[in-house]
Amino acid sequence: MAFLESQVTVVGGGMVGAALALMLGRGGVKVLLLDGQVPAAAFGDVADTRVSAISEGSRQILAGLKAWPHIQRKGPYQAMSVWEKDCFGKLDFSAEDVKAEVLGHIVENRQIQLALWQELGQCPAVTLKAPAKLTGLEQGQERLMLTLDNGDLVATGLLVGADGANSLVRTLADLPLIFHDYGHHALVATVATELPHEGCARQVFRPQGPLAFLPLWQPNQCSIVWSTVPSEADALMALAPEAFSQRLRLAFDNRLGALTLLSDVQRLPLTARYARDFVKPRIALVGDAAHSIHPLAGQGVNLGLADALALAEQLLDALGADKDLGDLKVLAPYGRARKAQALKMLAAMGSLKTLFGNGNPLIKLMRNAGLAGVGSVPVMKRLFIEEARGVAVQEQLVKVRDKHQIFSP
Ligand SMILES: Cc1cc2nc3c(=O)[nH]c(=O)nc-3n(C[C@H](O)[C@H](O)[C@H](O)COP(=O)(O)OP(=O)(O)OC[C@H]3O[C@@H](n4cnc5c(N)ncnc54)[C@H](O)[C@@H]3O)c2cc1C
Repeated sequence: MAFLESQVTVVGGGMVGAALALMLGRGGVKVLLLDGQVPAAAFGDVADTRVSAISEGSRQILAGLKAWPHIQRKGPYQAMSVWEKDCFGKLDFSAEDVKAEVLGHIVENRQIQLALWQELGQCPAVTLKAPAKLTGLEQGQERLMLTLDNGDLVATGLLVGADGANSLVRTLADLPLIFHDYGHHALVATVATELPHEGCARQVFRPQGPLAFLPLWQPNQCSIVWSTVPSEADALMALAPEAFSQRLRLAFDNRLGALTLLSDVQRLPLTARYARDFVKPRIALVGDAAHSIHPLAGQGVNLGLADALALAEQLLDALGADKDLGDLKVLAPYGRARKAQALKMLAAMGSLKTLFGNGNPLIKLMRNAGLAGVGSVPVMKRLFIEEARGVAVQEQLVKVRDKHQIFSP
């Protein structure tokens, strides 16, 4: 049993927690980063089923942290195509429309995590302990005492929960959770496509839910996210691979020709969640520990990386002013700003899901009219262009870069 001390302890070394630890460590904060699991270092030829659409804003964060060049496999996409099954409505746009080279990149989550861990190895202010799980928390005025599964004790001035959607930090800290079942399960898998994806991210809205084909680094492979009602998910999971691929081809309006499953199909129930408060004295939540949203606009980890940037800015400002990093006055502005952003995104996902999930013929007619006039539906335009590019994060990154020397140019 060991006794450890740190200024800040981050629980969860996933994409968000690892990025936050690196920002803080580069800014001179003594950080202990814990993760219950060590990600496997080896990759097969076929992509992992868990991938993310990384916005340009998030790419710039990862590049500033010097992690982006370590990522070997990334699928840039220059176009997006969104349409509705059995309707005229469609929305197509390209990077050229916004005078950019790409709209984003599809990257395996594990590639991002490992790239960040590689950089953490070069950052002496951060101690990474894995596997090491948080199991208990005792709250004091001046500091918190944490218990780990190996019996170690940690005294810390601030505890950050970056431990995902089922956050133990959130539970131990008694931060109430507000949640809503989307009534969707996501089926994720890697597929080979007869026709090349040509760097286009495609999504069809079916009455049962959206189905996305995300272009991987190989020209004929995509990662799919098939969101559907639980009864259809049951039926699809029971199919043999060939029958599943046939159903997938039909559901996808045959846009990329014949399809072959290259991986197992993984099933994930989808729930909208957010913590009522993202902070309390000596505790803060980031990433999925604070909020989780429907993957239809591919924004979960982009929101989480923006949380990490905002919290790092707040804490490094406080460090410069010699303030207590666990003080609620230091943490509160972060909590307010990021909760407002998460709620905005949760509301947008809710209205999109309702707009597309409604079988009422009148609403269907209105959708047809609205979508046919590309750009005339403000929520669509904002979500699929501005948010996908991460414009707000790019602006915040410039601000933080000017104040704190934690990012390379
Ligand atoms: C089907 C699907 C598709 C998605 N697609 C996209 C997309 O295209 N773009 C996008 O931006 N987002 C997407 N998301 C969302 C994205 O995957 C999440 O937002 C992101 O993974 C959250 O990262 P995180 O670091 O906050 O949490 P996690 O990735 O969940 O990491 C949490 C970490 O904490 C560790 N941990 C947990 N408990 C403990 C403990 N007690 N002690 C120590 N360590 C602990 C875990 O081992 C893990 O490493 C998608 C989500 C789903 C479900």
